[in-house]
Amino acid sequence: MSEVLQLPPIRPRERASAAELRAGVQGARVTVVGGARSGLSVARLLTRHGADVFLTDAGPALEGVETKLADNGIPAEFGGHTARALDADWLVVSPGVPTTAGLVQSALRQRKPVYAEIEVASWFCPGPIVAVTGSNGKTTTTTLIGHVLEVAGRGHVVAGNIGVAFSDFVDDLEADTVVVLEVSSFQLDHIATFRPHAAVLLNITPDHLDRYDHDVERYGAAKLRLFDNLGPGDWLIYNLDDARIREHVQRLAAERGLTPVAFSAEHEPTPGAFARDGHLVLALPDSSAPGAPPMEEDLMPSSDLALRGTHNLYNSLAAAIVARAVEIRSDVVRESLTSFEGVPHRLETVRTVGGVRFVNDSKATNVNAVWYALESVPATEPSIVLIAGGRDKGNDYEPLKRLVEEKVKGVVVIGEGADVLEAELGPHTDRVAHASSMEEAIQFARLMAESGDTVLLSPACSSFDMFDNYEDRGDTFKRLVYAI
Ligand code: ADP
Repeated sequence: MSEVLQLPPIRPRERASAAELRAGVQGARVTVVGGARSGLSVARLLTRHGADVFLTDAGPALEGVETKLADNGIPAEFGGHTARALDADWLVVSPGVPTTAGLVQSALRQRKPVYAEIEVASWFCPGPIVAVTGSNGKTTTTTLIGHVLEVAGRGHVVAGNIGVAFSDFVDDLEADTVVVLEVSSFQLDHIATFRPHAAVLLNITPDHLDRYDHDVERYGAAKLRLFDNLGPGDWLIYNLDDARIREHVQRLAAERGLTPVAFSAEHEPTPGAFARDGHLVLALPDSSAPGAPPMEEDLMPSSDLALRGTHNLYNSLAAAIVARAVEIRSDVVRESLTSFEGVPHRLETVRTVGGVRFVNDSKATNVNAVWYALESVPATEPSIVLIAGGRDKGNDYEPLKRLVEEKVKGVVVIGEGADVLEAELGPHTDRVAHASSMEEAIQFARLMAESGDTVLLSPACSSFDMFDNYEDRGDTFKRLVYAI
C-alpha cells in the first residue's frame, strides 16, 4: 500500500497571491469534490467566474442536487470517482472530505493544487473576514460575534460551517460587510492565501482525531494554519490558557513580528482580554492611537454576561476582542454580550418543572464539552442528574470523574456507550440508570432529581446510534420536557 501523503508546508515565496489565483479562475478546469451544500455553492461560484467545473462525489446525490447542477450546466458524477475527476488543473474540496480521501491523495501525488471552499471564496471577498476555529465553541462564538455586529448595526454575514456557504453570497458583498466564518480544521488543511482580518483560535482538544491518524499534534497543526497568512494590521486572537496554542502562537509571533492578542481566564495578558475580580477587562490597542500602549478598560461585570460558565467566558472575551478589531464601541459590546440569547442545543435551558431545571446540551459530543457543562452549573453539593451516552468515539472519561464526584447525584446512560459510561462514571455518583429511549431517560432523571436540581443532557457521544443527528436528539429531549 502506498503511504498517505502529508500536506506539504506552505512556502510563502513561491505562492501565488489571492488576486493571481482569482485571475486564474477564468478558463481553468476545476474538479469540485463533494456535492453537498458548500460543494454545490463553490461549483456555481467558479462557473459564474468562467471556470470549466466538474463535480464528483463518492456518495449518492442528495435530493435536488442533480437538478441544480443541471440548471447551472455543471457536469457531475455520483457514487464514485472516475478518471475524469483528476483531469483538472486544480481541485476544490468540500469541508466534509478528509485529506486522506483517495482522490485528494491522488491529486496531491500528481502535484495538483487542492483548495478548500473557504479559500476559493476568499479570493472573491471584498471585505474583512473574521474567522473562528477551535475544537469547541465555534458556533457559539461565531453566532455571538454576529450578534455583536447586528446590535452595532454593521453590515455582516455569518457563514461557514453554520448554515450558509461562504461561496453562496461572496459575489454580492459590499466592501465594508464583515464576513464572520466558522471554520473547521478540515477546511484549514487546504488553505493557501486565506487571510482573515481577525482570526480566533478558541482551544485545541482531541476530537475528530480519527481523521488525523489519531495524532493530536497533526490535528492541532491544522487548526493553527488559520494564522498562516496573517500580517501587520491583522488580529491574531488566541487562548492563552491552552498550552499547545500558547507555545505555537508565541513562536509564530516572534518569527513574523506580529503582536498576538490573548484572552485568558487565568492570567492578565496585555494586549488581551481577561477576568479580574468578577469583571471583564480589556487591555487592547486603540486604533485611533497607533503605537500607544494598550489602555485598560473595565468592560462589564461577568455576572451580566448572557452566557454562563468558564467556557463561555472565553467565548465572550474572544468576541469582545473581535469587536475591537472591527471598531465597535464598548457600550455596544456590553449590550450585546448581555442580550445574546445563545444557540440551541448548547447549554440551552429548556424549562423548569417542579423546581428542576432541564438543560439541553445535545451538541456536547465530546468529553471536553461535558466538562465545561458540568463546570458551568452552580452546585455546592451533588445536584445534577446527567443524561449521557450515544455512540462512544473512544472517549477518555478520566477528566470528568472529579466533577461527577462533586456535582452529579445520578447518571442516566443511553445508547451504545451506556455500559462504558456506567463503568467509568458509575463509581463516582450515587445512582446509575440504563434507559432504552430518551423518554425513559427523562423518566429516570425525574425520579432522581429534586427541586433545585438540574437535569443535564450532555452526552459526550455522537447521536447517530439513536437519532439522525445532535439536533434531532436535542429536539426530542426538548419535546419530551415540554410534554411533562
Ligand atoms: P462547535 O461549533 O465548535 O462544535 P459549539 O458552540 O457548537 O461548538 O459548542 C459545542 C459544545 O461545546 C457545547 O456543548 C458547548 O456548551 C461547549 N462549548 C462552547 N464553547 C466552549 C469552549 N470555549 N470550550 C469548551 N466547550 C465549549
